[in-house]
Amino acid sequence: MIDGAQLLGKLRGWAEELGFSQIGVAGVDLGDAEPGLAAWLAAGHHGRMAYLARHGNKRARPAELVPGTVSVVTARMDYLPRSLDPGWQAIEWQRLDTPHAATVSLYARGRDYHKVLRARLQTLADRLAAEIGSFGHRVFTDSAPVLEVELAARSGLGWRGKHTLALSREGGSMFFLGELFVDLALPPTAAVEAHCGSCSACIDVCPTQAIVAPYRLDARRCISYLTIEHDGPIPLELRALIGNRIYGCDDCQLVCPWNKYAQRATLADFDARDALSDPTLLQLWAWSEAEFLQRTEGSAIRRIGYARWQRNLAVALGNALHAKDDAGIRAALQARRDGAAAMVQEHIDWALA
Ligand code: SF4
Ligand code: SF4
Repeated sequence: MIDGAQLLGKLRGWAEELGFSQIGVAGVDLGDAEPGLAAWLAAGHHGRMAYLARHGNKRARPAELVPGTVSVVTARMDYLPRSLDPGWQAIEWQRLDTPHAATVSLYARGRDYHKVLRARLQTLADRLAAEIGSFGHRVFTDSAPVLEVELAARSGLGWRGKHTLALSREGGSMFFLGELFVDLALPPTAAVEAHCGSCSACIDVCPTQAIVAPYRLDARRCISYLTIEHDGPIPLELRALIGNRIYGCDDCQLVCPWNKYAQRATLADFDARDALSDPTLLQLWAWSEAEFLQRTEGSAIRRIGYARWQRNLAVALGNALHAKDDAGIRAALQARRDGAAAMVQEHIDWALA
């Protein structure tokens, strides 16, 4: 009969073959994370992500979310595109400084990670079932009801950085997280020491000052939330601060010293698509809805829909215009105004004002 430690060893080998950089095991008692979660929700820092509040303490109680869960296998997968230039941070800062360029978060330039991670975690579960027989399990990745960073930190995949993301000495923070809830008793893996020390670079660099205190993010101010999750108008006072970030924001990670250890993906899935590697705002603004749907097929970007995509681009184009007036940008904004959704029209008017 195979014991827990041997099983973990096998899981590690399979996970590596599947493209994961590391796996760990967490127990299901996250009770001491509940007060922090409750305080964050009570402060309204989750913005309009009502689904986060809806799950309440279930998020901190894996065995309530999936009855029978005894252990959580945690996994991380590096995502930097394989062909990324060695000087990638400098290139990204340069892009952010170029008003007519469009910046898409690095993780979103390739295939939708939800699909990739979910499929590979399921394969991991299938291999385990082939070894020990069927068992109860459920796969999650970037899923609202799960306290992913908490589980990752407890199981030693990294520590929680002051920017609130998981951070590892071996891989920085440029990785995705996924979890396999299982009804098997596996030996938990140890947490690692935190290494943020006296650094506060992420807090200082944040364009919208969304990291309101170490380890505390006000999602309502975070550009990642505003450009992806938020479905209404972008608050006026934050628009200029968004610059040319049209999908997500990497600034707090770009500045983090640990990301000099960030690793390239091993999977081709995260290779950057040509249209998203180094586009200009006007190239993307020219996409019709049909083109948007076709070009973002299989990409996480498709999830935000065309109206939010245009809204984000209108803000960035407005910021480019404020940096330097440009007749081409004005004409392009005007040309799309009539057929646009009401929310997008308002952002176009703001951009042109
Ligand atoms: S993602 Fe951007 S806006 Fe959000 S906390 Fe990090 S630096 Fe700030
Ligand atoms: S930038 Fe500094 S404080 Fe922020 S997560 Fe990285 S090491 Fe920690």
